[in-house]
Amino acid sequence: MAALPETVARPIVVQKYGGTSLATPARIKRAARRIATTQRAGNDVVAVVSAMGETTDRLLTLASRVASEPAARELDLLLSTGEGVSAPLVSMALNELGVAAVSLLGFQAGIQTDTRHAKARIVGMTPARIQRELAAGRVVVVAGFQGVGTEMEVTTLGRGGSDTTAVAIAAAMKAQGCEIYTDVRGIYTADPRLVPEARLLPRIAYSEMLELASAGARVMHPRSVEIAEAYAIELHVRSSFQAAAGTIICAEETMMEDRNRVRGIAHEEQVARLSVVGVPDRPGIAAAIFAPLAEADIAADVIVQTASHEGITDMSFTVSLADSRQAEQILQGVAKEIGARTVLAQNGLAKVSVVGSGIRGQAGVAATMFRTLSGRGINIEMISTSEIRITCIIDARRVQDAVAALHQAFNL
Ligand code: ADP
Ligand code: ASP
Ligand code: MG
Repeated sequence: MAALPETVARPIVVQKYGGTSLATPARIKRAARRIATTQRAGNDVVAVVSAMGETTDRLLTLASRVASEPAARELDLLLSTGEGVSAPLVSMALNELGVAAVSLLGFQAGIQTDTRHAKARIVGMTPARIQRELAAGRVVVVAGFQGVGTEMEVTTLGRGGSDTTAVAIAAAMKAQGCEIYTDVRGIYTADPRLVPEARLLPRIAYSEMLELASAGARVMHPRSVEIAEAYAIELHVRSSFQAAAGTIICAEETMMEDRNRVRGIAHEEQVARLSVVGVPDRPGIAAAIFAPLAEADIAADVIVQTASHEGITDMSFTVSLADSRQAEQILQGVAKEIGARTVLAQNGLAKVSVVGSGIRGQAGVAATMFRTLSGRGINIEMISTSEIRITCIIDARRVQDAVAALHQAFNL
C-alpha cells in the first residue's frame, strides 16, 4: 500500500482590517473577497478586524451621555462590542462566498491581557482554538482591540489596538506574513491628510516606526510595532482599496541603503501641560511628583525642570488631554505635601516630532527644526529628544503650519 501523503503545513497569513476598511456592507464584502483570494492561494488566513467606521467613537459618546465618568470596566465591555459586530459580519460575508469561516471574540481567540482597562497589554496568547479552526479548513476572523484579564474581565488595548492584536497573533502563530490593511497606501513621511505632498515610504525601520507611532502617527498602534520587532515579524501596511504595494516595516539592518537623516514627521494634538510651581529643590521631589501619576497609569511625557533659584524650582511636563484633569487633581494633593506654591494646567497644546535613524549624532537636525519653527513665528514651549527623535511642544492651532514647514525644510 502506498504511504499516505504527509500533510504539509500551509503558510499562515494574518491580515488586519481597520475601521474605514469595514465601514459599510460593501466594504465588508470587499475585505471578504480579499481574504478568500488569499486563502484560495494556499494560505491559512487569520483576519483581525476593527469596529466598523466610527463605531468606537459613537460608543464613547453614548457612554458620556449617560455618565460623566463611566466606570472603566463598563466602558471596556461597551467598546468591545464594536469589534463584536464586525467580526461575525466578515465571517458571514466569507460564508456567502463559499469560504468556511468562524469569528472569535478576544477571549475565545486566547488573547490574555493584564487588567488595566482601556490600556491593557497582551501578556499571553493561547492560540489552540485558532489552530484547531485553521486545521479544520476555516478562516478565523478575530475581533481586534480586546482581550481578557483575570476573572474573565473584558479589556481593551487602547485606541488603535487592533494592530496589536494582529501582530500578537502573527507572533504566536509564527505567521508567514502580517498585512495591515488601512485607508491610506502605507506609511508616509507625514500624515497625508495634513500634508498632501507627503511621500509614501517603501520601507521603514521598526525603531523609526515606533518613534513615529509613539509621537502620534495614528497609522500604527505603538505596541504593535514593539511586538513586531521583538518577534522579527515584517509588517506590510497597505491600502484596502487598491492593490498597490505599501510600506514594509522591518529591521534597520535590512535597509541601510536608503537611510535618511529625517524619515518622517509626526504630530499629536490633544496635549496638555501641567506645571508644579515653586517646588523646594531637594532630593526625592521628582519621585514625589511622578510616582502617584504612574500609580494612576498616567504617562508623563516631555518633562522639564527649570534651573533652581534660591532652592526653588518649577517642574513641567505634558500629558494627553484625556488624562489632564485627573493629573491635575493628583498634583494638587502632591503640591500640598511637598510644599509647592501652585499647580498650573494649560490645554490647547500639540507635539510635533521629526524622526529618523540618521538623526543620531547630527546636531544640525535640531537646529534646522528650531529655525524652521521660529521662521514661521511658532513659539516652542518645550523640547524633548530621543536618539532618533526631536519633539517640540507648540500651540495646537499652529500644527498644520508646523508640519508642512518641517516637511519642506527636511526635503521629505
Ligand atoms: P485604521 O482604522 O485602518 O486602523 P487609522 O485611522 O487608525 O486606520 O490610521 C490610518 C490614518 O493614520 C490615516 O488615515 C492617516 O490620516 C493617519 N496617519 C498619521 N500619520 C500617518 C503617516 N505618517 N502615514 C500614513 N498615515 C498616517
Ligand atoms: N476600534 C478601536 C478604535 O477605534 C480599535 C482599532 O480600530 O484598532 O480605536
Ligand atoms: Mg488604526
